[in-house]
Amino acid sequence: MAIIRKQLTQPAAPVDTRQAEVDLHTRLAAAGLLTVPLNVQAVAEYLGLEVTEEPMDDDLSGYLERRGGTWVVGVNAFHHINRKRFTIAHEIAHFMLHSARQASFHDRTFSRRTADPNPMEREADRFAAELIMPAPMVRELIGSGVTSLSALAERFRVSALAMKYRVQNLGYQVNQ
Ligand SMILES: [Zn+2]
Repeated sequence: MAIIRKQLTQPAAPVDTRQAEVDLHTRLAAAGLLTVPLNVQAVAEYLGLEVTEEPMDDDLSGYLERRGGTWVVGVNAFHHINRKRFTIAHEIAHFMLHSARQASFHDRTFSRRTADPNPMEREADRFAAELIMPAPMVRELIGSGVTSLSALAERFRVSALAMKYRVQNLGYQVNQ
């Protein structure tokens, strides 16, 4: 006798991150929030997220967690402001892409996360990078002669490391 069991867990459908990025950019542009540097706090609030800073171990960057009816973004209070900005963007990405699947996300720091085999982490980092360092803007700045990592990082208010990954992912070579 064949027994057919109901599948208990939904297979993880691939998220259309590109479409989600386009949708968010459209909404932010309409709300006047698509600025350089991006006001990540304002974007989070616009999306209904509550942002809170908390002391955490140095290798933790933050989390996204549903508490009752509210999604809360926690950020490591000890980190530099530019790292906090990327963390908030990363948690916004989890909210936009993955919050239908999971009610909590706890994140290690960016440099430790890059080896994480969980595809959701790469999706969130890619989404966050596109949100905070939009490709057309990065290309425009480099094309206009802003070619030092530190000058670019300052423009977008991100860490030099996040900026380095971004320009490399956009196909630029970094001489260091
Ligand atoms: Zn994450």
